[in-house]
Amino acid sequence: MLEVKDLSVRYGSVEALHDVSIKVETGGLVAILGANGAGKSTLLRTISGIVKAASGNVALDGTAITGLRPEEIVRRGIAHVPEGRGILPDFTVRENLMIGAYVRRGQDVSPDYRRVMGMFPAIERRERKLGYTLSGGEQQMLAIGRALMAAPQVLLADELSLGLAPIIVRQVFATLDQVRRTGVTVLVVEQNARLAMKFADYLYVLKYGRVVMEGPRETFAKSTDLVDAYLGA
Ligand code: ATP
Repeated sequence: MLEVKDLSVRYGSVEALHDVSIKVETGGLVAILGANGAGKSTLLRTISGIVKAASGNVALDGTAITGLRPEEIVRRGIAHVPEGRGILPDFTVRENLMIGAYVRRGQDVSPDYRRVMGMFPAIERRERKLGYTLSGGEQQMLAIGRALMAAPQVLLADELSLGLAPIIVRQVFATLDQVRRTGVTVLVVEQNARLAMKFADYLYVLKYGRVVMEGPRETFAKSTDLVDAYLGA
């Protein structure tokens, strides 16, 4: 289980997160909703060790990982698909995927490579193509595939739907569901509440850096007006 407890983060005088606590059960798919600037990316970046917490804790299966370097956090089993995908445009699809396995130096990663390729047929067909030649949806699949090459226990995914056509977004989320069914715990940040409610089993709403609502999918489905109000829709 991934557990975040009373996490606060500051950028200078801006408090981006205030006493945020969330739990993601092993094998679950949890979504964090929130408007622009609510602190969603900051939450994922702090779990990944890219941003330092002012106070609070992050624990994976009961072991504190707060303050560890990002590379060590990947090694402990948490991989991050960043907002904007962050794929390397001038490297091939294969090279991009292999970069995801950099923390596993010395291990045979070919079974994972084949497994990831099997999960993303559109990418498999473009194995030798350069990153920039891929469509937005394919780049997003590549970014997820790269994270999976770290053989994570937990996958963090930031705004996967950004800039993608609705039909492609549904494909990307269907893939996440497939990832979860392989036993990987998934935590997604999403502005598209309807979409998140379809796939997540538990959701949180962040507003101005605080958790203002949380509950299982069924509760959210009954409170769409409230969710919309929090998201400013
Ligand atoms: P978005 O959907 O726009 O990415 P978000 O919910 O992910 O929004 P964050 O990006 O986490 O929100 O930002 C939370 C708050 O922290 C905002 O007020 C933002 O302006 C501020 N912030 C984020 N990154 C930095 C930074 N590097 N330096 C200063 N302030 C920052």
